[in-house]
Amino acid sequence: MFEGSNKPMVDYHVHCDYSVDAGGSVAEFAEQALEKGLKEICFTTHCDLDPLRRHHDGRVRLRGDIVEVTSDWLGSYVEEVRKSSDAFKGRGLAVRCGLEIGFTPGIEGMIEPVLSAFDFDFILGGVHTLDGVDIVSARESTDYFSQKSPREVCEVYYHDLGEAIRSGLFDCIAHLDIYKRCGLDFYGEPLNVAHRGLVEPLLEEMVGRGLSLEINSGGLREGLRWPFPSPDILKAARDAGLADITTGSDAHKPDQVGYGLEACSDSARDAGFDRIVVFERRSRQEIPLRQAYG
Ligand SMILES: [Zn+2]
Ligand SMILES: [Zn+2]
Repeated sequence: MFEGSNKPMVDYHVHCDYSVDAGGSVAEFAEQALEKGLKEICFTTHCDLDPLRRHHDGRVRLRGDIVEVTSDWLGSYVEEVRKSSDAFKGRGLAVRCGLEIGFTPGIEGMIEPVLSAFDFDFILGGVHTLDGVDIVSARESTDYFSQKSPREVCEVYYHDLGEAIRSGLFDCIAHLDIYKRCGLDFYGEPLNVAHRGLVEPLLEEMVGRGLSLEINSGGLREGLRWPFPSPDILKAARDAGLADITTGSDAHKPDQVGYGLEACSDSARDAGFDRIVVFERRSRQEIPLRQAYG
């Protein structure tokens, strides 16, 4: 299926309109993916279960209505993605069904039943909030950052990420240094080195637990220099023995599907990675990077 091509072929981080911050149906995303020559996409709609954030993030869109994340919507989501999966299979596009779960320590017991209720292909775990504050939101993060040094932000962030890694709930860690998205504007250059000594042990734990690492081009749309994570963190991941990466655009609209994936593959290659992984029913398959990205 994956034959050499100069085009990016795999987008493993896509938000359709079940995510309240995204627009476009599953079928519209799949159509765009096909048009752009992709061979495989995985839908990873937001699933944010933190009760402390219920009024901010705990909502999803179901048939045009905004409903609570704890209500009965996942069946419709999975069914819609599976329907597209069947429809697009014959047209040369594999469509997978996943989730991006916003992780906060303490909500493991809320995540488990979601994962066991459905046959997902891929579960992405990401930290977006620290101490109940959305640090990926320009509106919320400024107040939080103004009370903390870059190092203090990283200490909290990597502590929570460590819990995510050790939870055993996830196949892959999303956008590992996402705190830079708003944090670089606030702190500037010191934030680029504030992870040193904190990230390395976590990368080793990811290797020990067989977790894969996402290279995410979402920040490029907002003017960041590199995909997440930055080249030095990718290098540290290789040094730790991590081999399995996924590539994702974090598309929130159909026309963003596949965006920036060449930069993800360049980052991967520069750091010494030679394969990506894709997932079906949460079991992984390796694809040589040169085959997936020409
Ligand atoms: Zn995310
Ligand atoms: Zn996302």
